[in-house]
Amino acid sequence: MGLLRPDLFIFLCLLLLLIIVISVSQITKTHKVYLAFHSIMMLWPLGQYIVSIAERTDVQRIFVKVSFVSIALIGVSWLFFVLFLTQRTAWLTKPRIAGALLPSLISIIAVVWNPNGLFFVSENEHFAERQYGPMFWLLALIQFIYLSVTLFSMYYTMRNDHSVKRRKQMMLTLFGMLVLTVFAVLDMLLNVVLQDRLPIISGLMSVGILLSDLCFVVVISRYGMFDVLSMAQKDIIDHMSMGIIVVDESNRVIEVNRGTEPFALVAKKDVFEMDKFLSAVEDQEEVREFLYRYRNTPYVRQQTEISWRDGRYVSIQISPVLDDMKSVLAKVITFQDVTEQRKHVDDMNRKNEALHERNLELILIQEELFRVNQKLEQMAITDGLTGCYNRRFLMQQLEHEVMLNHRYQTPFSIFLFDIDHFKLFNDRYGHLIGDEVICKTVDTVRGTLRKTDILARYGGEEFTIYLPHTNREQAEVLAERILRAVTEIEVDTGKEKTGITISMGTFTEESFDTPIRDVKEYLRFIFSQVDTALYEAKNQGRNCIVVAS
Ligand code: GH3
Ligand code: MG
Ligand code: MG
Repeated sequence: MGLLRPDLFIFLCLLLLLIIVISVSQITKTHKVYLAFHSIMMLWPLGQYIVSIAERTDVQRIFVKVSFVSIALIGVSWLFFVLFLTQRTAWLTKPRIAGALLPSLISIIAVVWNPNGLFFVSENEHFAERQYGPMFWLLALIQFIYLSVTLFSMYYTMRNDHSVKRRKQMMLTLFGMLVLTVFAVLDMLLNVVLQDRLPIISGLMSVGILLSDLCFVVVISRYGMFDVLSMAQKDIIDHMSMGIIVVDESNRVIEVNRGTEPFALVAKKDVFEMDKFLSAVEDQEEVREFLYRYRNTPYVRQQTEISWRDGRYVSIQISPVLDDMKSVLAKVITFQDVTEQRKHVDDMNRKNEALHERNLELILIQEELFRVNQKLEQMAITDGLTGCYNRRFLMQQLEHEVMLNHRYQTPFSIFLFDIDHFKLFNDRYGHLIGDEVICKTVDTVRGTLRKTDILARYGGEEFTIYLPHTNREQAEVLAERILRAVTEIEVDTGKEKTGITISMGTFTEESFDTPIRDVKEYLRFIFSQVDTALYEAKNQGRNCIVVAS
């Protein structure tokens, strides 16, 4: 057979697997333990191979020892590997590590020392065929004890683990270990116990090692046992400030992170019931509503914000994990301290409210300002005592109106009247009565006018009236009407009742032959005309009308 022995082939396979595992994975502590375990397993086929091809018996002896050192370490490596796999490394204190290693060390000493061939002796001057002594059986016993402890530990962890993925991982690992055990037992039975009756079947143990290692490789690659990402996720979840509790359908805690501590003291396997947990704050309306929804619609995601006993505000969310039939498999409950956010929101709301109030005030001020402005505008064009237009406004209007009238050749009239002997009212009855006389006169005159006529105070107790679309005849009628209306006024002076009369000059424009060059000049002309007419009326004995020619 020469160099092409199955042990060499298996050694190369194991080496290849090792390279694959290293190249596809990122190295973590668990990886390192696996690598140590893998390397130890490789020693067996390597040792066996060299024993079979070595010429010198001392070399053969050394490599038989190397092979059995590998077997002596397999049990304890398994134990450590499984502890890492099931994430129970916390169990590994220094005294426990030493205690676990001790039987293995005893086996190694027994192999290396091999006193008087108590472990093994060669048969036919070659170590490929060996006779085993009591120390070999001690090693076998120690390995089976390791195996039993490891299997029990795995079975125990598997039973208590709720993750389907991890269960599958462990099942396959367990299967790998059983395969190796079966091959080890077969090897011992055929090649040790029955070696006198049967030919040696080489490579049995090596095949067992290869098959079990294949199982481990599948576990690593298929189920991502050393999945750095999920490890990182777990790490992130653990260091989040948000509290996360995952409960199964019977409210038993499957997972809980450190962030939960400020909200609830919960450990894995505890029963976590929302109703009981929130009973301390159940008097809050939000909590009652939240619990009602939680009990009646457990398949819907629920969220609430409650005020905690110590003044914090906590947002609680329950997200159900549903199966295809929409029944709840598990629930993810999260707690988050939202006191800061709440403070900000409250602050914002307060500021908003203040802003809103300020806005309303501004609107009121604006309205007030508008009213005042309107009043000012009104005041700017009216006379304070009588409420009729002032002279300035009238002149402005006239500048525009007379131009229009000229363009469209529309006749218009202007009256100027003055209260007769007004001084007497002031002198006899005082200024207040004088004012009353002025106001009564204005009210009466206004009552006789059309909406389009403009009545304005010209000065003192003199008033002017602009009458658009009014020819001479119409003007005469209107002037008469005004004069008559005023004579009907009765003033109660307190001492006696007395009447009022006015004198009036009128002017009517009916000819538009000469165009207006300067409107101000034209207005001055009109007013000098009515003024003269008024003067004439006074001269004629008052209470009469004089038409400007
Ligand atoms: P005449 O018939 O010639 O017009 O005689 P009169 O007494 O009315 O004389 P005149 O028109 O010159 O008198 C104007 C007086 O009116 C002078 C002024 O003291 C008074 N007066 C002017 N404005 C007011 C006012 O607003 N209130 C009061 N009470 N008197 C005023
Ligand atoms: Mg007068
Ligand atoms: Mg006067």
